[in-house]
Amino acid sequence: MRIDVVTTFPEMFRPVLDASILKRARDAGVISVVVHDLRGWTTDAHRTTDDSPYGGGAGMVMKPEPFFAAAEALRCPEDGGCAEEVILLSPQGELLSQRMARELSSRKHVILLCGHYEGVDERVRQHLATRELSIGDYVLTGGELPAMVVIDAVARLLPGALGAEEGAEADSFADGLLEYPQYTRPADFRGWQVPDVLLSGHHEQIRRWRRKESLRRTRDGRPDLLQGASLTEEDRELLAEVEREDETGR
Ligand code: SAM
Repeated sequence: MRIDVVTTFPEMFRPVLDASILKRARDAGVISVVVHDLRGWTTDAHRTTDDSPYGGGAGMVMKPEPFFAAAEALRCPEDGGCAEEVILLSPQGELLSQRMARELSSRKHVILLCGHYEGVDERVRQHLATRELSIGDYVLTGGELPAMVVIDAVARLLPGALGAEEGAEADSFADGLLEYPQYTRPADFRGWQVPDVLLSGHHEQIRRWRRKESLRRTRDGRPDLLQGASLTEEDRELLAEVEREDETGR
C-alpha cells in the first residue's frame, strides 16, 4: 500500500514513521508512506498556502490551488496505480473506526490532505476529497496528528505488518467487542493475582473466559457496541452468567 501525505509540516512525521511497527512495515515494503510539503505546489515567491477568509473573521484559511495541484500530481504515480481515495482530515468528517481502517487497508493508494489554521477552502472538500475523515469530536491544531493516527491504524492491518504473535484479530473492535483483559508475569503482583484459569493451560476454558470477559467489558464500558454486535448462542449464555455474577456479587 502507498500513502501520500500533503502537509505544511512534513517534519512532524519522521519520528513516528521511523519507530516501532511502522518502521518495520515500511522496511519490509508492506507500506510506503511519502510525505510532501504543500509549499512545493505553490507558485508565488512567498510559497503562500493560506489567506484571510472571505466574509471576514479571525484566522487564515488554506488555499485550494496547492491542494488541487498536489493531489493531481500525486494521484497517478508512474510506478503505481492511481489513488482510490483523497482524504481530507477534518473534525467535521466521518469518524474513524476500526471498520473504516480495515476498509482503507484494502486500498492500494491513498492521499491524505492535512489542514491547518481555520481549516481548508470548502472547494477542496467539495471537489477534490473523496472523503472527509475525523479522528474524534475535538479540534486539533492541524491534520498531521490525525494523518498519523490513520496511517498507524491502517498499517497494522496490512498483511505482514504485525508478527504472527501480534495478530490484530483479537484486538478491540475486530469483532465489534472490546478485547478481554491481558496479563503477563508475575502471576502475583503486590497480592493481585492473575486469574487461575489463565494459568491452567486449559485452552477451551481460557477461550471461554476470554470471551466472557470481553462481553463483560463491552457491556460495562461500551454498551453501544454490544447492541450492534452479532452475538452467538454461547455469547448470550455467557452474558447471562455475567448478569448472574453481578447479582450474586461474583
Ligand atoms: N475551524 C475548523 C472547524 O471548526 O471545523 C477546525 C480547523 S482545525 C483548527 C485545523 C485542521 O486540523 C483541520 O483543517 C483538520 O485538517 C485538522 N483537524 C483538527 N481536528 C481534527 C480532527 N478531530 N480530525 C481530523 N482532523 C482534524
